[in-house]
Amino acid sequence: MGRLQEDAAAKRWRKWLPWLVASNYVLIPLGYCAKPWASFVGWEYGALIIRLRRDFLKQKGKDYGTVGFTLGHLIVLSKHGDNPLVQTHELHHCEQQEASGLTGLVVGLACLASGQPWWASALLWALTPAAMYLSASAVAWMRGEDKYRGNFWEEGARAMAGRGCKQR
Ligand SMILES: [Zn+2]
Repeated sequence: MGRLQEDAAAKRWRKWLPWLVASNYVLIPLGYCAKPWASFVGWEYGALIIRLRRDFLKQKGKDYGTVGFTLGHLIVLSKHGDNPLVQTHELHHCEQQEASGLTGLVVGLACLASGQPWWASALLWALTPAAMYLSASAVAWMRGEDKYRGNFWEEGARAMAGRGCKQR
């Protein structure tokens, strides 16, 4: 079950989760800076969603193959960003990063308990989601698959959006 279909119990739990994975919210202020280039900036399903303006994308003169990306709980959507499948895909990345953020918190607390400086623990907490994504790409590459399409985070998000693992 993804965020778009989550029930009341899941929503209650999600009220607590942001405090445990606070490092996933570090880039949120940057999201508000994107307002001049966005047709929408607002919270949906626990994530700050930015829909880039079509005229801004045209100005850039590029055919953006990438329709969205997720950094923690900041989601940037470009071409076809209003497609609910794209949003489902990106929201699945949020869930993956929440799980990784919790892993980072546990590892960071273990680091703190072992007498390491607080900033080392905070760094572990903040960087674990990115490290896990990159590790999934490394594993895909070692298996001989494409680093992006073979990354199991991407495979999961594509499967969640109901478009199969071989498509974007
Ligand atoms: Zn993705």
